[in-house]
Amino acid sequence: MAEKRKFKKRYCRYCQQKVDFIDYKDLNLLKYSLSERYKIMPRRLTGNCKKHQDMIAEAIKRARQAAFIPYIVDRKRVIENPFELIK
Ligand SMILES: [Zn+2]
Repeated sequence: MAEKRKFKKRYCRYCQQKVDFIDYKDLNLLKYSLSERYKIMPRRLTGNCKKHQDMIAEAIKRARQAAFIPYIVDRKRVIENPFELIK
């Protein structure tokens, strides 16, 4: 249940921050839509709008190709906040 409450507020973070373009190099933006296993979060959980979700999906796929984020994370490498390592 705690997991569910995390996403209770339904609004698009990217609209709120008035993001027009999502750069695949901008991990700070991408991390809102990545799970702890670097999977793209579905829109029903994040509350992103369609426009931004499409941009995010595109950007994340590019970021994976450019090796900014991994394609897969095995069980041993799952940690609470993977972005602490990137900073
Ligand atoms: Zn939006």
